[in-house]
Amino acid sequence: MESSRRDIGPEMHKLVGRLFPTCRSITGNGFRHSLALLQEHIPISVQEVPTGTEVFDWTIPKEWNINDAYVKNSSGEKVIDFSQSNLHVLNYSVPIRKTMSLEELKPHLFSLPEQPNVIPYRTSYYKENWGFCLSHNTLSSLKDEIYEVVIDSSLAPGSLTYGEYYLEGEIEDDVLISTHCCHPSLCNDNLSGMAVSTFLAKELTGMKRRYSYRFLFIPGAIGSITWLARNEDNVHRIKHGLVVACVGDPGQMTYKKSRQGNAEIDVAVQHVLRHSGEQYRVKEFSPYGYDERQYCSPGFNLAVGSLTRTPHGEFPEYHTSNDNLDFIKPHALEHSLSTYRQVISLLEHNRTYISQNQKCEPQLGKRGLYASLGGRTSSPLAELSMLWVLNLSDGDHSLLDIAERAGIPFQHIHDASQLLFDHELLQERRPLSPRSGE
Ligand code: ZN
Repeated sequence: MESSRRDIGPEMHKLVGRLFPTCRSITGNGFRHSLALLQEHIPISVQEVPTGTEVFDWTIPKEWNINDAYVKNSSGEKVIDFSQSNLHVLNYSVPIRKTMSLEELKPHLFSLPEQPNVIPYRTSYYKENWGFCLSHNTLSSLKDEIYEVVIDSSLAPGSLTYGEYYLEGEIEDDVLISTHCCHPSLCNDNLSGMAVSTFLAKELTGMKRRYSYRFLFIPGAIGSITWLARNEDNVHRIKHGLVVACVGDPGQMTYKKSRQGNAEIDVAVQHVLRHSGEQYRVKEFSPYGYDERQYCSPGFNLAVGSLTRTPHGEFPEYHTSNDNLDFIKPHALEHSLSTYRQVISLLEHNRTYISQNQKCEPQLGKRGLYASLGGRTSSPLAELSMLWVLNLSDGDHSLLDIAERAGIPFQHIHDASQLLFDHELLQERRPLSPRSGE
């Protein structure tokens, strides 16, 4: 895989900066425009699913679009202005154009008293409502007078949009990388995920791949439900998956396990994090969070975890106007991308072998395997890695299983397996599902 370039973090940050001003939601032109920006990097195929389509227990909602919104006081000053921040409008607000008293307006105003300087992010997707979000300080300053309230939006039959990018590999088994893209001007949740997914997809495009990769750019919850409903017949191909979000903040990496808890992806991510030499956290699965909730619903129970930095709800900037371009850091984006890259590299190289000498060890010395390892000077770790691979290659243990049991980083176990394979001491157990017709 393309090794990390020094400018890749700033490039991802720049992409987030371009996505930032757009008012996205779970449907509408903001979502389409965002996919168009990602298409400058990878050829995402755009799907449109009409309003009213039933997807399991849900129905595709009406499409929402917005041009402008404001609240003007009696002197004609805009005291709340959508053009200053798209967070000011309750996302999915129905249109309104009315004059009213502060008392009448107040039930439609949302603020965060505990963080009085920030604009909160609120939505009302499935219950028709209108409203404005504003800092608590602004709210407190509003005088008891008559206001002109305008939300120039539309909520009408249309479609739900999502993007899909499929990269065919040698085998039909898929790795799913899923990112929600429905938040307006919020960076860590979720523009950082869109940038890291896009750059990961871009790298994988130029690589020889064993697995096939399916990248989804979807609105949260309704998007994964829609995709699963429309692709039920092919879901069995997904062997591993990760939900990407909150990958730009300066906090440590956090892995949330799949519902299965001990799937290969769970072991692989934890292995990478454990050998990173950095602080990290592992959380058990819970049915709260992002789209892993749908992928891990019991009828699918896919091996999909979520790899983030600081999880949603655990940073004070979460779902507020402080989750902005200053909050996310180029080096954090780059580090997240690098972690994803390492996990994928591990999955790509994780094989199961059968040692050709099941009864006692083969004599390594006479094959020169104690003298050199892939042209490098042999080390005790390299020799130990060979012994572990030979001992556990009984057809039941993958290289990752061996690395875990031996407590040795995967890379050393993999290097040892390559050397042993080259000396015909190992045979690969049946490869995973080859493409039909091959
Ligand atoms: Zn969110």
